[in-house]
Amino acid sequence: AKFWILRKHFEGFPKDSDFELKEENLPEPQDGEVLLEAVFLSVDPYMRPYSRARMKEGDTMLGTQVSRVVQSRNPKYPVGSYVVANCGWRTRSLSDGSDLRLIHSDWPKELPLSLTLGTIGMPGLTALYGLEEICKIKAGETLLVNAAAGAVGSVVGQIAKIKGCRVVGCAGSDEKVSYLKELGFDYAFNYKTVSSLKDTLLEAAPQGYDCYFENVGGEFSSVVLPQMKQFGRIAVCGSIATYNDTELQTGPYVHGHMIFKQLRMEGFLVFQWKHKDHDSIKRLLDWVKEGKLQCREHVTEGFENMPAAFMAMLKGANTGKAIIKI
Ligand code: NDP
Repeated sequence: AKFWILRKHFEGFPKDSDFELKEENLPEPQDGEVLLEAVFLSVDPYMRPYSRARMKEGDTMLGTQVSRVVQSRNPKYPVGSYVVANCGWRTRSLSDGSDLRLIHSDWPKELPLSLTLGTIGMPGLTALYGLEEICKIKAGETLLVNAAAGAVGSVVGQIAKIKGCRVVGCAGSDEKVSYLKELGFDYAFNYKTVSSLKDTLLEAAPQGYDCYFENVGGEFSSVVLPQMKQFGRIAVCGSIATYNDTELQTGPYVHGHMIFKQLRMEGFLVFQWKHKDHDSIKRLLDWVKEGKLQCREHVTEGFENMPAAFMAMLKGANTGKAIIKI
């Protein structure tokens, strides 16, 4: 088995030398265990903050993958079945089954299994829960989402359209902006090239925003807050603009807007609604099958390219979900 470890804790933006590729021989599976072979792996923004919070130097990089069961001593996971596994950046892994989710054999043949790491997996669920549980979005409302062409953002915008909302999204390239328009966003812009973010947000929604799905954090959010409507809701999902900071950002102070506009701002983690995942995955899958939810993936080939794919995603190379194919 090959696996990537965190060789050195990241200081600022990750570097090649922070990662190291290792190899080991795995023993035969024992009773209750399965041997897994990675087919698709995921690189996600949370790996950056989690590298400090959850990993020591020398640990295997955390992450999920779609894997095929190649040996089994666990009847729940027969040989040849596919699972979503939480076993990190590894080509082969032993599991006792406790951290696996079986992909059922009725998975539609026309859909790639990698969607279970994206639109029909954790990022899709994040979009759904942020909109329904935090924003409590209603038809006719106006929503703003940033990192809108990414794994979470692209699903946020499309679900908000399904629900009858007006959707404004931004992303970091003109090609991504065209993609957002293809997806049916009512207004999309490149935040890197607009001359004034404030004026652009105002032009996109002169009456203001009912909901803001926040993926980016940092300065962007301080420009948005004054443009929220009374009783607006802000789902604080991510803060990718700050994940590589070496110093904590301070201010600006938002209390005035929060009070006088009576805003509700709430951070969340997707796992909060784990008990709903089974039904929610089915809802996402149905939307995809009905053609209401489109999926795009940015696929990098080769396990040896995991660190490069991770760093490229942090820099915005991906439109849609960043996936590594073995
Ligand atoms: P994406 O697929 O959106 O990839 C990350 C994107 O972030 C890049 O493509 C890039 O797009 C954008 N980005 C990177 N740096 C910056 C920056 N400095 N300013 C603005 N945009 C930047 O990732 P995900 O969809 O997986 O995740 C999106 C956000 O959601 C992240 O913040 C992540 O941590 C969060 N998240 C939170 C979860 C939760 O449970 N709360 C669960 C899953 C994700 P661009 O070209 O547009 O700049």
